Amino acid sequence: MANPFDLSGRTAVVTGANTGIGQGIAVALAQAGATIVAVGRSSMDETGALVRQAGAEFHAIAADLGSIDPVKPIVAETLKTFGSIDILVNNAGIVRRADAIDFTEEDWDAVMSINLKTAFFLTQAAAHNMLEKGRGKVINIASMLSFQGGIRIPSYTASKSGIAGLTKLLACEWAVKGVNVNAIAPGYFVTNNTMALREDPERNSSILARIPAGRWGSPADIGGAAVFLASSASDYVHGTVLPVDGGWLAR
Ligand code: NAP
Repeated sequence: MANPFDLSGRTAVVTGANTGIGQGIAVALAQAGATIVAVGRSSMDETGALVRQAGAEFHAIAADLGSIDPVKPIVAETLKTFGSIDILVNNAGIVRRADAIDFTEEDWDAVMSINLKTAFFLTQAAAHNMLEKGRGKVINIASMLSFQGGIRIPSYTASKSGIAGLTKLLACEWAVKGVNVNAIAPGYFVTNNTMALREDPERNSSILARIPAGRWGSPADIGGAAVFLASSASDYVHGTVLPVDGGWLAR
């Protein structure tokens, strides 16, 4: 029987692939056989080395995803280089922390722009190729804040709740056309995004105390879920937001 998790011959675009969860996903998809197109504003050299070590092809595209200007060029360059976009991982994202009462319009717009607006318009741009082929996999990176409120991160919670809704809407429109749209909701992972939480001893220990697995996640913990949602193993999975959270939501 063919391996349903095999991604050989597939091209995956991963945003924010230079570090953290995006890098973990890029490496896992490469290990499953996918060609990786890494998109972001920082050097992709480290990710490129890891992907090539896994025996996969690699191409980096420099882009600031704070606006949707690079969205069409990213798709055009990927199609010119590899001829197809089979998997899109909308991972790049930011968080801004302040009490709701003091939260600024700048912090609202910056987060909503990359976490939600760019994710939508990049998906729209990539979906033309997927819908033409009648095959494609979109994976959005959601959050525990797609399910919960949190504190001091109003635009982040709005964006991650929004991405969960968008995941379901796109699934409803495209499932019948052979394109799967799903999301992964990471729990608390050791990355740049959570540095402020981990450096605050009180927040760090209260978060840790709530995680049934008894540890923060590491980017390698997310790879299996990404391979599943990128592969034919998930062909009948549409519009789900899959928690990879060490049991956080079960508590
Ligand atoms: P991270 O290490 O801060 O990674 C964020 C990624 O987004 C980096 O590659 C970053 O690039 C990129 N990015 C930010 N702004 C960008 C811009 N304007 N243009 C292009 N790329 C940009 O944190 P992470 O935890 O791996 O975050 C990845 C995703 O997981 C985010 O969507 C985040 O919300 C989500 N998430 C994280 C956790 C967690 O516990 N860590 C939990 C739930 C969800 P630079 O390195 O150049 O800034």
